[in-house]
Formats: sequence, C-alpha cells, structure tokens
Amino acid sequence: SKATSAVDVIVVGGGIGGLAAAVALTQKGLRVRVLERAPEFGEVGAGLQIAPNCTRILDQWGLLDEVKSLGVLPKNIVMKDAVDGSELSRLDLAETEARYGYPYMVIHRSDLHGTLLRAARAAGVDLVNNIAVTGYEQSERGAVVVHAEGREEAPVVIAADGLHSVARPLISDDEPVSSAYVAYRGAVPVDQVVGNDVSLDDVVVYVGPQRHFVQYALRGGEMFNQVAVFESPKARAGEEDWGTPDELDGAFDGSCEQVTKGLPLMWRDRWWRMFDRNPIMNWVTGRVALLGDAAHPPLQYLAQGAVMAIEDAWVLSEHVGRQLAAGRGVAELDWDDVLSAYNAVRPEHCRRVLTTARAWGELWHVDGDERLWRNEILRGRAVDDYSYVDWLYGPTALTPEEEADMFVPHSQREVASATV
Ligand code: FAD
Repeated sequence: SKATSAVDVIVVGGGIGGLAAAVALTQKGLRVRVLERAPEFGEVGAGLQIAPNCTRILDQWGLLDEVKSLGVLPKNIVMKDAVDGSELSRLDLAETEARYGYPYMVIHRSDLHGTLLRAARAAGVDLVNNIAVTGYEQSERGAVVVHAEGREEAPVVIAADGLHSVARPLISDDEPVSSAYVAYRGAVPVDQVVGNDVSLDDVVVYVGPQRHFVQYALRGGEMFNQVAVFESPKARAGEEDWGTPDELDGAFDGSCEQVTKGLPLMWRDRWWRMFDRNPIMNWVTGRVALLGDAAHPPLQYLAQGAVMAIEDAWVLSEHVGRQLAAGRGVAELDWDDVLSAYNAVRPEHCRRVLTTARAWGELWHVDGDERLWRNEILRGRAVDDYSYVDWLYGPTALTPEEEADMFVPHSQREVASATV
C-alpha cells in the first residue's frame, strides 16, 4: 500500500463543502489534500442563494469581493402566491444587509465553487481527481482512507462526500429520505425572459399547491435563473421512474401567467429529485468527521445547504485556530478536542435547519383553505420582522452556549412554524 501522506488533513470530496474546509484549514497553516472522485473539479446546476451567515464567513476568508463581483445583490426576496400571483411577503435585502452587516446574494454555483477552487490552488492545497474513496479505518496516527490506488493516512479525515456519503454509514444506518418532489432548473440569457413579467432586481418565489417556482437574475444580471419544483404524481403512486419531464407541465396547471411563461425555459434533460436525511446528532467517529451534505443534506426551502457546509468548515477551522492561538503547533493539535467542539455545536444547528426546511416546504405547498390561511398569515407579517431569520442569518455559533443565545428569543417561533 501507498506511503503515508505528509498532510495534516485529508478531505474527501471537492464540492463546495470540501473545498471550503480545505481553504479554511489551509489558511490556519495546515497542509490539506482533497480527494475527489470526479475527473475534474466542478459544479452542475445553476443558481445558489447565499445568506449573510455565509457572506460573513467568505469575507473573513478574503473571498467576498470576488464573490460579489461574480454574483448579484438582489433588492428583495419576494414571496408570491403561484395561483393568483399576488404578493404575500418580502424581505428588503438592503435592510437585511444593514441588520447583519453582510449581504444576501445569489451566485452561479460554478462561480462560488470556482472561487473556492482558485483560493485552494493559490493556498497550495493538494487537489487530486479520479480518486473514489471506498473505505475508512481508524489508525494510531489518525485515520486512513482506502481507494483503488491504495491507502492514505492523516491525523484527521473530513468526509465531505455529499448525500450518498460513503463515510456516513460508519456513524448511522439511515438512508436518504425522498420528498417525492423534483426540481427542474434553467439558467438562460436574460433577453429570453423579456416580456415574461419578471423582476430582475429580486429573488421571487411563487408558492402554490404541491409546487413552487423560483426566479432571479445571475452573473451581474446577464443570466436569468429559474427553478420549478413540484410533487411527482408518479412518485406518489410508487413508480420507480418519477419526476420525468412529462410530469412538469401538468404540475403547473392552474398557475399564474408569470409562472407558466417561465416553464418553456426550464432544462428538460436533467432534473433533481429532492432527498434529505433525518438529522443525526453525531457526525464524528474517531478521527473521521462528516461535513456538508454528508452530515446534513436538507430540502432546499431555506436555501441553507451549501451555506451550512461553509459554516461547518469555518467552525472546524476556528476551533483549530483557537488551539494555535493558545500556543500549540500544528503537529500538536488535539484533534479529538477540535472534533468534539465541532460535534457539540453543529449538529444541533443543522437539525433545526433540516426540520424547519421540511416544515417551511410543507407550508409553501398547501392547498385549499390552508392556502388561504397561509396567505393571510404571511400578508400579516411586518416587512421588518426578522424574527424568523435571525437564528439563520446571524453570526455562526462556535459553541453550544452561543448557539443557545442566538436561538432563545425564537424558540417559540420554531415550534410555531413547524406546526402551522
Ligand atoms: P456535494 O456538492 O454533493 O459534493 C460532494 C463531492 O464529493 C462531489 O464533488 C462528489 O463528486 C464527491 N464525492 C462523492 N463521493 C465520493 C467518494 N467516495 N470519493 C471521493 N469523492 C466523492 N444551498 C444553498 O446554500 N443555497 C441555495 O440556494 C441552494 N439551493 C439548492 C437548490 C436545489 C434544487 C438543490 C438540489 C440544492 C440546493 N442547495 C442550496 C443545497 C446545496 O446545493 C448543497 O447543500 C451543497 O452543494 C452541498 O455541498 P457538499 O460539498 O456538502 O456536497
């Protein structure tokens, strides 16, 4: 088997979470190797919303200017009813930025991933493609990853290998949970949506019975991103082959014009079935730790999946930073302490995001009287009421005490939003 690698950390998976971990730990002076299964580093898909709790961290890493130059700073997030097109609620994003000190942005996935990749390269991260990790072992010095070309050891291994993580079964025997919803995406040159009654300044979400539709401009306003999400009748009927394009148009029957006009622009050769997992409260076994979707894949209704992965990376690296600041050298890092500090704070935060995302999605998709009640309640929310998002968009907690502080005034509201 192969020689022991001369790195401090092995990261498995070079998605947004894995690269964020590599960048953050390298900035603390650690040597990091990233093992990625795919032949190249990259991201498929279209737009990504990144909230202030993410842009705050990107700023600390020195990446916010680059991200701002590639993304869009929308003026509002507007929620509308998908059936009649009426406005239900909005967040003023200039005020949101003033409140949290950092912007709410949208960016093309490949641009955020590319920014992290360039930062990783510039910092000297060892980036390796075509390596699929198949197994993990604990060792005297840390942990070992196993792959077709041999075995590699490091003091710690971060598994950022996504929804179908190979590392997660070391900790939990759970399976991905199907929501029976499927997402279609499409990012097109902005001139293709002229005349469709779209807003180029806002993130607009149309919520309706068993469906929703998201729109926003991307790449400095040159592109327009749309996401169409619906509950698949074939999934509900227990069929294997569900979420296929033949279901797309029917799912949006009875929607307002702004929505139906957008449907022809969706990509029909690719779709994303929506899975999450039940929250688990332990992400660490020995010297292997889960990060990002491997630990906490959400339904996307709070737009916090990639954001949580970036927060994970920041929390992990800040706990390393605390030990270095206290005078330890890199070789003397107490990884058990770092991992237990990480494990003490992140699973609880992400549990709340996962369960709230499910409840929020259910509220988006209600029908009949429930839809009318929802609309009344959302219309009654004051535009400057941030009580539903402070716990998400505020500074990321490093300890359970900080997390609890952030959440106390809102505990009632979590219950309320989960039971409406
Ligand atoms: P992944 O992106 O899945 O990366 C895992 C990486 O590991 C991949 O590169 C993979 O090739 C590699 N890998 C896997 N197995 C192995 C192996 N055995 N060995 C080596 N490498 C391996 N999040 C937001 O924050 N905001 C949004 O607006 C938002 N919108 C979304 C909309 C939709 C429709 C969807 C589906 C998701 C959305 N998300 C959003 C969630 C976000 O996309 C994910 O949470 C995020 O990309 C997870 O990143 P990750 O690095 O943890 O995992």
